[in-house]
Amino acid sequence: MKDNKYSRRNFLLKYLKAGSMLAGAGFVLSYTSINSVAKGLAQSGSFNQQPPKKAVQPGQKNPCDDLTGVSAEEIEKRKKLAYVTKTPIPDSHCSNCTLYIPAAKDKPCGGCMLFKGPVRPDGYCAYWAPINN
Ligand code: SF4
Repeated sequence: MKDNKYSRRNFLLKYLKAGSMLAGAGFVLSYTSINSVAKGLAQSGSFNQQPPKKAVQPGQKNPCDDLTGVSAEEIEKRKKLAYVTKTPIPDSHCSNCTLYIPAAKDKPCGGCMLFKGPVRPDGYCAYWAPINN
């Protein structure tokens, strides 16, 4: 049988090759995109697992411990959640908790979605949940 260049077999082989090349190119492009997003997050510090350096000098009262204006009810919530100003677990702290509200620009204290008032980035409570879950 003569091999016709316009045969169904040639047509299918040609488009299978083209389809494979497109799928490979798509995989390479998506891998490259994921890598660049991950690099950007790493450079921005979003994957930083260490609590931020202390902005408060030794002997100076930490403004994140000042509960002036915070209601007794909100202070009680902190206690019930066992909030502490210094985490007992080095890799688990408020600043890498999914419930943490980062500090506004030029402010030393963040917040928590579970209660009102200032929160130390290196604090911790029983409801700590990792950011990347
Ligand atoms: S849930 Fe707990 S660990 Fe998480 S930000 Fe609030 S106080 Fe910190």
